Formats: sequence, C-alpha cells, structure tokens
Amino acid sequence: MDKNLELMVELQKVDRELKKFDDLLEKLPAEVEQHSHDLKAAQEELNKFKTALDEKKKLRAEKERGVEGKKEAVIKGKNKLHDIKTNQEYTAALAEIENMHKAVSKLEDEELELMEEIEQSGEPEKAIKEKVAKEEKLFAEIKSENNARVEKVKVERATVASKRDEVLKQLDPLYVKKYDKIASIRNGLAISEMKEGFCTECHTSVRPQMAVEIRSGKGLHTCPACLRFLYVEKVAEHSVEELTP
Ligand SMILES: [Zn+2]
Repeated sequence: MDKNLELMVELQKVDRELKKFDDLLEKLPAEVEQHSHDLKAAQEELNKFKTALDEKKKLRAEKERGVEGKKEAVIKGKNKLHDIKTNQEYTAALAEIENMHKAVSKLEDEELELMEEIEQSGEPEKAIKEKVAKEEKLFAEIKSENNARVEKVKVERATVASKRDEVLKQLDPLYVKKYDKIASIRNGLAISEMKEGFCTECHTSVRPQMAVEIRSGKGLHTCPACLRFLYVEKVAEHSVEELTP
C-alpha cells in the first residue's frame, strides 16, 4: 500500500478513537445530571415542608393578634356598659360581648392546634433533612466517580492525540491538507475501505480498472462519489473475494 495512504488509514483509526473519547467527554457530565433527580426531589420536599411550616407560623401569629384584638374589644365593650341608657341597648351590648368571648375562645383553640402542629413538626423535618443529606452524599459520590472517569478518559485521549501527532509528522503535508479537507465535508471520515468493488462509506461501485489498482496498491485513488481515499485491508488484498470483481 502507498505509504501516505497507509498513514491516512492509520490517521483515520486514530481520529475515530478520538471521536469516541470526545463523545464520551460530552456524555459523561450529562450522566451526572440524570442522577440528580432523587436529590432534587428530596430538596423540593424539604422546601415544601418549610413553606408549609412558615405558613402555619404566620397563621398562628395572626390568630394571636386576633385574640388580643378581640380581648381589648371585650374590655372596651364592658366599659361602655355603664353609659348605656336603655335595656334593649344593654341586652344587645351584652350579646355582642358574649359573641366576642366565643370568638376569642374559638381563635385560642385554633391557635393552640397550630402551636401543637408546629411543635410536632420537628421530627418529620429532621427526617426530611436526613433524606436530603443522604441524597447529597450519594450525588457527591456519583459526581466524584464521574469526574474520575472524565480524568481517565482525558489521559487516554491525550495518548491517542500524541499518536495522531506522530502520524502527522510522517504524512506528506499535501495529504494532511487533503485528508483534513475531505474529513471536514464528510463527517470526519476521509478514508473509506473498498470491499467487493464498492466504497463502504457511500456504497458507490468503483470502476474495475481502478479497483484493480487499489487492490494492487498502485497510487492513490478517491471514490468517484464521496471523494474519500479508497483502500483495501491488507488481509483482504489477496482473498479470493477481493480478487474477483
Ligand atoms: Zn464513496
């Protein structure tokens, strides 16, 4: 096989490997995101719990203020009783005071109920916080494992990248240029294997004369359709299959 073609075949193998590493490096951080679901759910549960608790505290304070207001009103109402002239007015004022008493006692009951609920929220809050902490720990572990994998892939990629540099040093600059140009317009693949007289990348048949030359390793040939350099694997070069067009 032509030396430059051989090097380009090697280059393509290296580039395929690099592509795999790059895909993996893009995919790995996204995998971490997929595992954040349980943690996010636990955090959301805690947020909801806290919001509900705050609401209860606010409501309890409102009831407390309500009780104070109504108690003051009762005192004022009682003080005004002395100034009342008619029986009818007096009865009405007493009824109003009685109603306010009832309202106070109702508000106090509600406030007490809320206070109990607030006091009892400690345990469930602790449980949810523990759940969040557990999920945070798990997620941190996954993240650190993932980071370790990323680092490993980067090291492996660097080794392959230096292999690429080695190949480039040996390849004729003219072919480096051609390779890059075809690769850039053909999905990163500038070289295609010819099998049974066909370009394996675009499945176009190769003229018999050109196929013979490619098999015998004479010169460099490109696919008439996709323009990729064509080659045959060394082992297949002498097989019966390849010799019969
Ligand atoms: Zn082709």
